[in-house]
Amino acid sequence: MGMKFQIRNACWLGDDAWFHHGTISIANGRIMKLESDFASDTPSAGEFIVPGLIDAHVHLREPGQPYKEGIANGTLAALKGGVTTVLNMPNNVPPTASLARLEAKRALFAQKSRVNYGLFLQARIGGPRAPESAAGVKIYMAKSSALAAVRDPAALAQIFRLQNRVVVHAEDEREFSTGWKKSFHRVEKTGEIFHSVEKSFPQCGKLPHHLRRPRAAVVAALQSIATAWRRVPPKERPRLVIAHCSTVEEIDWVRKMKRQGHDVWAETCPHYFLFTEQDDRARGPALQVNPPLRTEEDRAAVFAAVQDGGIDFISTDHAPHLPKEKAADSPPSGIAGLEWFGPVLLTLTMRGEISWQRYLKLAGQKAAQCYGIEGRGLVREGAWADLAIVANKPPAAAQEKIVTRAAVHPYPQFEFAVGIRATLVNGRLAWTDGRVRPGVHGREVYG
Ligand SMILES: [Zn+2]
Repeated sequence: MGMKFQIRNACWLGDDAWFHHGTISIANGRIMKLESDFASDTPSAGEFIVPGLIDAHVHLREPGQPYKEGIANGTLAALKGGVTTVLNMPNNVPPTASLARLEAKRALFAQKSRVNYGLFLQARIGGPRAPESAAGVKIYMAKSSALAAVRDPAALAQIFRLQNRVVVHAEDEREFSTGWKKSFHRVEKTGEIFHSVEKSFPQCGKLPHHLRRPRAAVVAALQSIATAWRRVPPKERPRLVIAHCSTVEEIDWVRKMKRQGHDVWAETCPHYFLFTEQDDRARGPALQVNPPLRTEEDRAAVFAAVQDGGIDFISTDHAPHLPKEKAADSPPSGIAGLEWFGPVLLTLTMRGEISWQRYLKLAGQKAAQCYGIEGRGLVREGAWADLAIVANKPPAAAQEKIVTRAAVHPYPQFEFAVGIRATLVNGRLAWTDGRVRPGVHGREVYG
């Protein structure tokens, strides 16, 4: 960590969203000095440097299910994606729902994580307050671990009162088996989908994934959250993050709450603005995810919010399952996109679909702000030297060596404009040209 070095003739994306050309001096893991000779509004043609991305929503399956993806392999995928910080979700086996389990998980990450990390605690009735050293608590309104879902306004309000930062999976599971007809009106507008459902599944009634977990579940969840929010005095309310926004309804609700001045933040994932339920039907289990992919109208609303700030930050919700699990009759839900996170967001920005200013917010700055992560997410003097070196030449999808144990490329049709050539974590080269450098460990971002 005591190393001092310089990156000369560098081109980096500064915190002003300009590309600066000059020298980066690094010492003790931090950026000591930035000497900018000149700045341009586009990156240089060769390589350029961006802040290491922050992925505020990943599911590394350790403890409990390391065969699906452990901490070491999951964080290797992160390095390949230019990601230098992950916030890990708590629905493990067993769930991270007590302080003792949080400590045990922290010890595993300290030993194995190749990138910086923070951990969530799973919220439950009567559960502890998340300590300062946690990212916050996660509420599952649909069962996602051994613990029961938390769905009622009274229970939500109790958790809101106790906690400082709360991220919610907003699908009320009570709508899963009975509520699908309620979302019929939206489906009916496009006509074709429902009729093909009836034709495709006449007897068994097995519905496509997005109808098994219908929009009504999202609407019901938002209603309960709103009721709980009103019951808690403003001073006692937490910061609230709506995880993986995927519907017009969530986007509208978050926009309204923000307008009214509430401390409400919105996250989405690349699959919610790159794909729709049609893609889910075409590609099957590979794109089966919770919450499900929705309509073109939803996709467009999510992407509009990505562009204009309705969405605060993007995460991957990296949720790996083995290929043989995905091939089963009732496949588990989840997309494993961590290793393409940087390339996807950078490509959209290079195409001009996202501004560089928005890119900085979406790829790390806002997640850092939301979850109280200090000194990360921007290239600036004094910050940790978490850097991704971006090269114009992306690997061809067919030749690409996939790192995640899910072993599936979620974006095979996406035309990548760039790839990550190297990733530095706390000033140390952790991954370069497809190879991991052993011995580089991340740090916990709290404390
Ligand atoms: Zn998740």
